[in-house]
Amino acid sequence: MVFPFFTIEDFNVELKHEHELFRKTVREFAEKEIEPRVKEIERSNKIPNELLKKAGEMGFFGLGIPEEYEGQGTDLIFNSIYIEEISRVCPAFTLATLVHELFTYPVLKYGTGEQKKKYIPPLAKGVKYGAHATTEPAAGSDVAGIQTTAKEKNGGWVINGRKYFISGAERADYFIVLARTSPPPSRKERWKGLTFFIVEKGTPGFRVGEKIEVIGIRGSHPNEVILDNVFVPDENRVGDEGIGFKIAMETYDHGRLGVAAQAVGTAQAAFEKSLQYSIQRHAFEKPLISFQAVQFHISEMVTLLQAARLLLYWASYLAMKERPEAVFAASMAKLFATEVAEKIALKAITIHGGMGVATEGMVERFLRDSQVFKTYEGANDIQKLVIMRQMMKHAFGMDIT
Ligand SMILES: Cc1cc2nc3c(=O)[nH]c(=O)nc-3n(C[C@H](O)[C@H](O)[C@H](O)COP(=O)(O)OP(=O)(O)OC[C@H]3O[C@@H](n4cnc5c(N)ncnc54)[C@H](O)[C@@H]3O)c2cc1C
Repeated sequence: MVFPFFTIEDFNVELKHEHELFRKTVREFAEKEIEPRVKEIERSNKIPNELLKKAGEMGFFGLGIPEEYEGQGTDLIFNSIYIEEISRVCPAFTLATLVHELFTYPVLKYGTGEQKKKYIPPLAKGVKYGAHATTEPAAGSDVAGIQTTAKEKNGGWVINGRKYFISGAERADYFIVLARTSPPPSRKERWKGLTFFIVEKGTPGFRVGEKIEVIGIRGSHPNEVILDNVFVPDENRVGDEGIGFKIAMETYDHGRLGVAAQAVGTAQAAFEKSLQYSIQRHAFEKPLISFQAVQFHISEMVTLLQAARLLLYWASYLAMKERPEAVFAASMAKLFATEVAEKIALKAITIHGGMGVATEGMVERFLRDSQVFKTYEGANDIQKLVIMRQMMKHAFGMDIT
């Protein structure tokens, strides 16, 4: 096989008929329940509770969660299809699921039996909500630079710090919070000494602070979260003390597939809307589609879109099979799909002319959303670092950090 891959199996993507049937179910839900309310969601910057309740009833919050914890027990391709299809209509809606996963993934992988039994089933049924709190005002990409501390006291931990950009914080019942539990042994090993804890809403000293307005994914906004002498028992610690950085990285490797899926769904919407508009809209007594320049835009859109979708399904498949290339593939999918979403959004604006820049046209939102996709779950320049490091590790066993 060609460098940096080894075998032809590295390029497998197995899609099944059930995946397509599921796509139809999700599409029907998105078009029937969410689409009629998208303008209201954009205006109010809020997802109506009853829509989330319906998604919970459909089992959408239990995707990827094992049946023993009341999830659907589905594979990762179902997750990607769900996020892609809902994002085709409203990417903010999928943030509720994505943020859920940033809580359920580390708890399922590193949590104790009691933690799984207590926290996962209500999240899988969509009756409770989770959030993930790593980022701080002074540390985003540099996770090891967080300043929140947790100090051991009376058989538990006292957490102090401030988290920033925490999605779903206003709705969340459970938060998974990263804190420093011991100083780094050396500058080179700053990533050591971090630990995750579960903090429940209502714990004394814990509060959700200011709302942060962002340019895209209207319907979901992050918040500041303040931890002021918050006491949690040791049973709320997720994983061993000091391995929080490793847990965080594995969680984001998984989560970035979701962002790639958001980008593919958004790009699909921008492409479909542009094609439709170019057929209906006339200029110089001809439909726009008859102009070669417009045809070129549409051809490039569909080509980029399919390439992004293939990368997404490929990366999801590798992750599902727990292949070592999965981390590197997830970063490639996130990087490429989010940049494709931006390129397609710009072309959609060009094709729609004035309606492309008018907010009532509902086209400019694709560009705003793509900027958020490029930023969260690891900004795209960080994805480039991950791709490089993982490629060198995979191909030569070389650590270039
Ligand atoms: C809408 C939204 C929702 C979010 N939700 C959550 C959430 O639920 N939970 C949570 O914990 N966080 C959340 N975040 C935070 C998000 O993950 C961070 O914003 C992101 O990781 C970037 O961190 P930063 O903003 O601190 O940027 P910085 O780390 O300050 O980076 C700024 C720029 O510098 C570049 N840069 C930084 N370091 C390097 C480097 N080593 N090499 C090259 N370039 C570099 C970056 O690529 C970026 O372009 C959210 C953010 C947004 C916008």
